[in-house]
Amino acid sequence: MKRFNLLIVALLATVFSASAQLSAVRKVFDNNHNQRTEIILPKVMGYNVYKADFHLHTIYSDGDVTPAMRVNEAWFDGLDIISITDHMEYRRLEREMFRYMKDYIRPELRNEPKAVNTNVLNTDPDERGLLVDFNVSYESAKAKGDEMGLLVVRGVEITRGKLGDYNALFTKDNNALYDPNLETTIRNAREQGAFIIHNHPQFSKKTKSTMPPHCEDFYAKGLIDGIEVINSYNFYDRLFDYCIEGGYTPFSNSDAHNLIALRFPNAGKDYFRNMTLILAERCDEQSIHEALKAGRTIAYQANMLIGKEELLSELFKESVTVEVVGEDSKRWKVRITNHSSLPYSLRWEGKKEGAVFGQSSALLNVKKGTKELDITVTNMFYGKEKSPVVSFKLKK
Ligand SMILES: [Zn+2]
Repeated sequence: MKRFNLLIVALLATVFSASAQLSAVRKVFDNNHNQRTEIILPKVMGYNVYKADFHLHTIYSDGDVTPAMRVNEAWFDGLDIISITDHMEYRRLEREMFRYMKDYIRPELRNEPKAVNTNVLNTDPDERGLLVDFNVSYESAKAKGDEMGLLVVRGVEITRGKLGDYNALFTKDNNALYDPNLETTIRNAREQGAFIIHNHPQFSKKTKSTMPPHCEDFYAKGLIDGIEVINSYNFYDRLFDYCIEGGYTPFSNSDAHNLIALRFPNAGKDYFRNMTLILAERCDEQSIHEALKAGRTIAYQANMLIGKEELLSELFKESVTVEVVGEDSKRWKVRITNHSSLPYSLRWEGKKEGAVFGQSSALLNVKKGTKELDITVTNMFYGKEKSPVVSFKLKK
């Protein structure tokens, strides 16, 4: 009897401790929802694929968000690299920030009684010049990035209204760039070793020209390194061929001014926010800068990918495995498994169409006995109407 009681006690103790343990584990899961989305991509041509947004605004120009919040957003959204590119020429909140942030004003200008020259998009500033310290937003983001393991690259947006907007990345001192003349400002940035992106390039609908004449002049003079072929939700598809054939580096950036969560409310579910994918050895300034100069980027938005043909083909090839898994009298069933997080839309055998979503498999009907299956990846573009074709050997 005694022994039986002991057995019951031992049994109850086991059940009790198991359920306590289970509920403890449940609690750990319940309390740790706040996690980063990981965007899984394969190595491509021996390089790691990093994700970046090189066009972001904060309260230091005309954004609604602090630099530290930009780092938080990027980290949770699965990015590895950002650049804060506040406008030099338009600083909406400067007057208000004056009250709280004296160190935002450059030391030699701290005695100015109030904000001046905060909107010089289309005019020259008066003799007092631009008052603020254009390195502050970078430094603030950099401190947060160092904490979280996110690379923050120094940058700035050169914003000249009708003359266009240009991001300078990898600058050394943003306070030494501004000149009322646009070309001089770009040259000042280049002298610091900066990489120049032509942002959201506009073209004239009337003349059907690709871009304004002064921009063509900048390209001809070698002042432009990259083109934002996608800005936020806008695709500049008239420039896809110009960008890829001309050897310019393609970018997709968010140009976010308000919270990313407001701009892209469903990102992370069926699609990701704007990203520039970068094929680089390491996630550090030197390696990323070198990759941009070599044009090793792919612009991503809304599950569309724009880049050089070879990079797109290799990304797709490394993302999927293809094998014959079954057959009926006429057809093979070919299973395509996508190990990456990005979805691909596919066309094969002329007009058969299908898709394979991120980290999923799909079955394709293929003519029996096909030795080589050519798949056109229709959400990838190396020109306005050019999608890569990738071949897979099949055997049963
Ligand atoms: Zn911008």
